[in-house]
Amino acid sequence: MASSVIVVGDELLAGFTRDANAHWLAGQLRALGFLLKRITVVRDRVGEIAEQLGRDLADPELAEIFCCGGLGPTPDDRTLEAVAAALGRELVVWPPILERLERRAHHLEELGVIVAEQAADGNRRMATIPDRPDEVVANRRGTAPGLLYGVAGHRLFVLPGVPAELRTIFSEELLPRHLGGGRPQLRGELRFAFAVESRFTPVLRRLEASHPDVSVGSYPQPTRELVLRFASSSQRRLEEAMAAVRAHAAAIGLAPTAP
Ligand code: ATP
Ligand code: MG
Repeated sequence: MASSVIVVGDELLAGFTRDANAHWLAGQLRALGFLLKRITVVRDRVGEIAEQLGRDLADPELAEIFCCGGLGPTPDDRTLEAVAAALGRELVVWPPILERLERRAHHLEELGVIVAEQAADGNRRMATIPDRPDEVVANRRGTAPGLLYGVAGHRLFVLPGVPAELRTIFSEELLPRHLGGGRPQLRGELRFAFAVESRFTPVLRRLEASHPDVSVGSYPQPTRELVLRFASSSQRRLEEAMAAVRAHAAAIGLAPTAP
C-alpha cells in the first residue's frame, strides 16, 4: 500500500512560491515507512482539485491521501468545496470549529489585532466542511483545522497549506495517533568523489536483473560527487547489491568516500 500527496495552490503553479509541503511530507513519510506513490500540484479550482482527489480515491494502492492547502477564509480557498464534491457529501457548518474560531476572533479583538465582526464571514467559511469528518484535527499554530475522512479503504487527510501549520499538525497530531505501523525500508548509501555516473552503468544494469527487489538510485551532485542510494526490505539483499557496486568500483579504481 502507498500514499499520495496533493498540494493545492495557484501560487505554486505560477512560480511565485516553491512548494515546501510535498517535499517535507515526502521526507516524513519515508522516515515513517510509508511509501509515497505520487505528488500532484493543482490549481485552486474546485473541478481540478476534485478531479485529482477522485483519481487518488479510485486508486486501490493508495491507503493515505494528504491534500494540502486552500482551507483558508478567503474566496480563493476552495479545497473544502472540492473535497465535498469528490466525496459526494454536503458542506455543513461544524459548530465546534465555528465556536473555536469565534473564541479566537474575540481574543484577537481584545488584543486589538482584528475586528471580530470582520472575521465572521471568513470564520463561517472555514467552519463549513464536508459532512461527517472522522476527526477534526486541532491546529495549534493557526486557524483552519485539519480534517480526516475515512472513505472506502482510504484515509483522506485535509491539511492547511501554511507550512508551519501543516508541520505542526502532522508532527503533533497525525504522527503519534494515525501514522504508526509503517514499515521503513532498509537503506544504504555509497558516495564516490569525482566519479562519472556512466562508469557505474554496467553494475547497475546487472543489479536490475539480479536484484530487482533492491531499488538503486544514482544521483550525481553539483560537487562532482556521485551518490548511489539503495533501498530494500531485506538486509541481506541490500548488502549484496552494495557489495556488487563496491566490487565494481574497486575494479575500475574507485573507492567510496567514508560516510
Ligand atoms: P490557512 O487556513 O491557515 O490560511 P490555507 O490552507 O488556506 O491555510 P493557503 O491559503 O493555501 O493555506 O496558503 C496560505 C499560505 O501558505 C500562502 O502564503 C501560501 O503561499 C503558503 N503555502 C500554501 N501551500 C504551500 C506549499 N505547498 N508550499 C509552500 N507554501 C505554501
Ligand atoms: Mg492557497
